[in-house]
Amino acid sequence: MRTKFKWRKMPLALSKCDFSKKDISRFWAHVDKKSRCWIWKASCNKYGYGKFAANGKDYRAHRVAFALLRGAVSRGDCVLHKCDNRPCVRHLFLGSHIENGADMKRKGRAARGDKNGARLHPERRARGERNGDARLTLSQVRKNSNFAC
Ligand SMILES: [Zn+2]
Repeated sequence: MRTKFKWRKMPLALSKCDFSKKDISRFWAHVDKKSRCWIWKASCNKYGYGKFAANGKDYRAHRVAFALLRGAVSRGDCVLHKCDNRPCVRHLFLGSHIENGADMKRKGRAARGDKNGARLHPERRARGERNGDARLTLSQVRKNSNFAC
């Protein structure tokens, strides 16, 4: 059985122009600005990032906040958190996917050791025929092998 793997969608380009004045005021009504971090109070996705629905789409709240406050976000660009507080929509900066990974590693949030996915879920690793680089099937290996399997 093939493991289910869902590719993350390439983040869409965003700018202030994508949202109506009504959407923008609705967005800021969901933000609590009382603390140092501005916290998204409405719904969040399973990873803890704020979700904002507009124009028939679900946007990530921190990406929308960056587009509203700082300017357009190009397609594929990541909006990163300086503060590592996922519901925060204030302490943001722009970076590439690679810079996002490097930032995560530098701040000690990368899954290492026993928290690494390869150790937590070894069954998800594509081994043998399931591996995309496999050139032989198990039956071909058995047929051509000198060893009895
Ligand atoms: Zn923050």
